[in-house]
Order: sequence, then C-alpha cells, then structure tokens
Amino acid sequence: MHSTDALIVGGGPAGLTAALALRQCGMDVTVADALHPPIDKACGEGLMPDALAELRQLGVELSPEDGGVFGGIRFVSHADQTAGVEAAAEARFPRRKDWPGREDCLGRADCQDALGVKRPLLHQRLEQAARQAGVRLRWKTPVQLLPQGSVLLAGEECRYGLLVGADGQSSRVRRWAGLESGQVLSRRFGFRQHYRVEPWSDVVEVHWGQSGQAYVTPVGGNEVCVATVTHTPHSRVDALLEELPWLRERLTPGRELLRTDRERGALTTTRRLRRVATGRVALLGDASGSADAITGEGMAMAFRQALLLAESVERLPMNAALERYNRHHPEILRLPQRMAQVMLLMDRWPALRRRAIHALETEPQLFARLLGVHVGAESMGHFVVTRGPQFAWRLAVARSQAG
Ligand SMILES: Cc1cc2nc3c(=O)[nH]c(=O)nc-3n(C[C@H](O)[C@H](O)[C@H](O)COP(=O)(O)OP(=O)(O)OC[C@H]3O[C@@H](n4cnc5c(N)ncnc54)[C@H](O)[C@@H]3O)c2cc1C
Repeated sequence: MHSTDALIVGGGPAGLTAALALRQCGMDVTVADALHPPIDKACGEGLMPDALAELRQLGVELSPEDGGVFGGIRFVSHADQTAGVEAAAEARFPRRKDWPGREDCLGRADCQDALGVKRPLLHQRLEQAARQAGVRLRWKTPVQLLPQGSVLLAGEECRYGLLVGADGQSSRVRRWAGLESGQVLSRRFGFRQHYRVEPWSDVVEVHWGQSGQAYVTPVGGNEVCVATVTHTPHSRVDALLEELPWLRERLTPGRELLRTDRERGALTTTRRLRRVATGRVALLGDASGSADAITGEGMAMAFRQALLLAESVERLPMNAALERYNRHHPEILRLPQRMAQVMLLMDRWPALRRRAIHALETEPQLFARLLGVHVGAESMGHFVVTRGPQFAWRLAVARSQAG
C-alpha cells in the first residue's frame, strides 16, 4: 500500500506548483498524472509579471532565454474583413518602482516584463523543480477514485492525509468529492497554434474579430503562439485568421504560414463553485473554478491557490486549514472572473468593444492603470474610486463620437 501526506491528482501547472508549495512546508508529496511529461496543452502561454514572481517564490526560475519577453498588452479591434483595424490601444506593465512589495520577476532589477513560455518547456521546468524538491512523481498513472473514499494508483491502494484535485476543467475528483455544485457563467472553445516568425511586437496583441478573439504571444526569438477563443467548436485558428487579414499578413512574411507543431484545442469556461474543499479533499487550478481564457489568468490563479493552500496547511490543523482555503479561494477568482465578464460583453457587443478600445486609446494612462489592476499592482477598488468617473466619461464621449 502506498502512503503519503498529500496525494495530488494531476501534474499540470496547478498540480506541480501545489506539490512545490506543500513540499516547502515539509509535507511528503506524491503527484500522479495519466500522461507522460513534458505535457502540452492548448494555452496562450503568457505569464504575467505577478505569475513569474509567484513561480520564483516556489523555486521555479525562468529566464528571458526560456521564451519571449513582452512588456504589455495591445487591444486591436477589427471592423470586418476588408476595413482592417478600427481601433488599437496599448499599455505597458507598471515599472517596479510603481509596484511596491513586488519581487523581481525575471531576476532583473526592473520587474516590468512578462514571458511567453511554450507549455512543454514550462512543464519541463516545473517537473524538474518538483523532482529536485523531493516530490514523488508518478507519470502515466491514472488515478482511480472508488466509492467510500479509497483511491488507487496503478491498481495499488493509496493512503493520504490530504488529496488535492488538480485534474483540470472536467475534474473527476470534483465529482467524486461531491463538489460539483456551482455555476458555469460562460463556455467557449479555445485553440492554439505556433508559427515560425519573428515577433513583430514586444507586447501581447489581442485581436478582436467578428466571431472571437485571437491573441499573439511571443514565445521565442523566432516563434509566436496564436490562441483563439470563440463560441463555435468548429471555428479553429485558420477560420478566425480569415476574419483578421491584418494579423494573417503579419504571420506570413514569406507568403506562407509556417506552423511549428500541430494545433491543439480545449474548452474554456468561467466557472464558480460553491465549495472547493471538503473532508480531506481540496480542489486547485481549473478543477476549482476558472475564468475565460481571454483573461490569460488561468495559471496565475493556480499558482496563487497553491500558495494559499500551503500557507493554510502550514498554519492550521487540516480541517481548519481546508476551511480557510475554502473561505479565501473566491478572492483569487473574483477579479479574473469580472474581467472575463467584461471581455465577454465586449465580444457580444461590437459597438461597446469599439467604444471601450477607443476610450483606452485616447487615455493610455487609464489603460496602464487598468493593466496595473490586472497584474495586482493596484486594487480594483482604488482604481474605481480614483479613475472610475474618468473612464465612464471617456466611454460616454467615445459613444457620442461613434453616434
Ligand atoms: C485556448 C486557451 C488559452 C489559454 N491561455 C492562457 C494564458 O495565456 N495564460 C494562462 O495563464 N492560462 C491560459 N489558459 C488557461 C490554462 O491553460 C489553464 O488554466 C491551465 O492549464 C490549468 O492548469 P491545471 O493544472 O489546473 O489543469 P491542466 O493543465 O488541464 O492539467 C490537468 C492534469 O490532470 C491530469 N489528469 C486528469 N485526470 C486525471 C486522473 N484521473 N488521473 C491522473 N491525472 C489526471 C491531466 O492529464 C492533466 O495533465 C488558456 C486556456 C485555453 C483553453
């Protein structure tokens, strides 16, 4: 019989960072995943400065050589296939001096950079860090969850003090532990494709087309990742690029699209659960709730949840620790889920999207402050009190100009 303090079901970004965080508080940890590393997945592959800082806290050091460095976000609204770009707004991440208390993110003095890292490489780095930290890793080992709480690893019973369900969107642990109850606020379809092309921009570009969004993240000196999110399962990357000729042209400087791997797809949801822990079971990462992929926050939320879980377990006996985790977990999801709702409104109402991007274009300072909220440099409450009226005014002006 296998016995461990913490059994983690799922060795994706959530499971491996939870393993690192729980090891840091002295637990014996086992991670089991049905797949073999390095594990790839459909993802936009952007790690914001705050996510990089959290990884550093967990002992995972990424450097600019691991991917493509970017310094901000650009929103680009496209009218239709022929009219091209109708509005574009850009903001850069806050500089470290404007961001008190934040650790260096890329080991540099100035923490304003973010990094696009291909998922297999990120997985390799996380796996390496977990192995070095003494986590027991069981790959190609699907976990079987039996009635009455027993769990089998490769057919062998496993005793655990804590079971963490980090098994993704369609979590079986969630169902097995009776934690399904909650709401799915949105459901869309995401695809990802890499292209061999020199990044033409040092920001992540989010292109708003008629049927969805395509965002471009630099992941190396000569490679970019394009992730698309739409409401239709058949609208793959190529179909959305047809709606975005401006972007398609950037991807084909030599007249041909040079794909560097095969396209991958996945469902993306905005999901809220009533509870994320019960008995000796806690959910983490996509299994514990999510925000639409367009927010680019999935992995960062998982890292914060891993740190919260470990901090709770370190401070309190298990029952109280999981209650604390359950209580504070919604705070991690709140802002990304609100952002998802705003982005989905912009997706549904092109006029609103045009107005919002116009407003941000004419007030770049405002956009920079909003980006600061996104990466945790400023609270939403502070932004609303100090800049809310200005933003509302800008939206109104943009509306009357559009009218
Ligand atoms: C198109 C798209 C773009 C995105 N862009 C971004 C982005 O730019 N930035 C960002 O931060 N996030 C992004 N996300 C979200 C991000 O990909 C997820 O939030 C992240 O992968 C969640 O990690 P996870 O470990 O919770 O789940 P997963 O990565 O899904 O890992 C779950 C693991 O559990 C394993 N598993 C499942 N069941 C079992 C079982 N019974 N036994 C053993 N193992 C099991 C699976 O094999 C898998 O390895 C995007 C998502 C999509 C779809």
